[in-house]
Amino acid sequence: MVTPLAPQQLAGILPRQAVRMVQDALQAAGCPDADYDARELLRIAAGKDPRLLFDPLTRPQAECLAELAAQRMQRVPLQYLAGEWDFLGLTFKVGPGVLCPRADSEVVCETAIELLQQMGKPEPRVLDLCAGTGCLGIGIRHFVPSASVTCVEKSPQALQYLQANVHGTGVQAKAADVLQYWRELMPQSVQLIISNPPYLTGAEMQALMPETAHEPAMALDGGTDGLDFYRAIAAHYRDIVCPGGWLVFEIGCAQRADVMEICRQNGWQQVQARKDYGGNDRVVYAQRVKYI
Ligand code: GLN
Repeated sequence: MVTPLAPQQLAGILPRQAVRMVQDALQAAGCPDADYDARELLRIAAGKDPRLLFDPLTRPQAECLAELAAQRMQRVPLQYLAGEWDFLGLTFKVGPGVLCPRADSEVVCETAIELLQQMGKPEPRVLDLCAGTGCLGIGIRHFVPSASVTCVEKSPQALQYLQANVHGTGVQAKAADVLQYWRELMPQSVQLIISNPPYLTGAEMQALMPETAHEPAMALDGGTDGLDFYRAIAAHYRDIVCPGGWLVFEIGCAQRADVMEICRQNGWQQVQARKDYGGNDRVVYAQRVKYI
């Protein structure tokens, strides 16, 4: 067991030294990116950029930093401790009970934005299924302001973050179970569906990264083979999308072939894939057949 830092170790010392101590403690606890996280924790504790801190830490700052460091040492995600996180240059509220926005997902949102721009429909209707914080749907609305976007989320905890995040964006938050919600929709009423559904396999759920283990299982667990939501969404939402419209999925890096096949089996066409900026397969997208 790694010993946490005591507030009295941090009070009265220079910010730069405090960062070093926190960094060492995080490193000892196995945290990746300990240097980045230590600086960020000081930013949260002090309420400003650590580069603008010159005076020794006050006792309240030291107490706050010690508490944040203790939580991070227990591998609580930095995003939860920060309470907000940037995605595509926008800031989203985040905390326990909702999946953290990830840089890996930016390419999923960018793909959808490109497809909408190519489609050129004046006021496209967009659904973000299993929306969590809403980062995908809200990201789309920001870059395609004419889009009418609904973010669908089942978890009451996640919905609180979603509601806070859609505030003032023009995006709608809808409390619903994606596995049932399609029944409420008119055929061919949507131009694009985007979804980062739960996609971890049963085996992956048993071996989560310590940070991911703090995130809601409901946002991660995709059934035994991780593909349950792809099957359900590809099947139930095909007729909701208008001819020429698109389905855009985030996928796990080993799921490209399976998800492409699920799309084809369910009558989607132009099935394609993209990698994220880390070089991992991350997006599968497919078009609703144009003429039927
Ligand atoms: N990308 C997440 C992870 O690998 C999983 C997110 C999801 O299941 N949608 O931890």
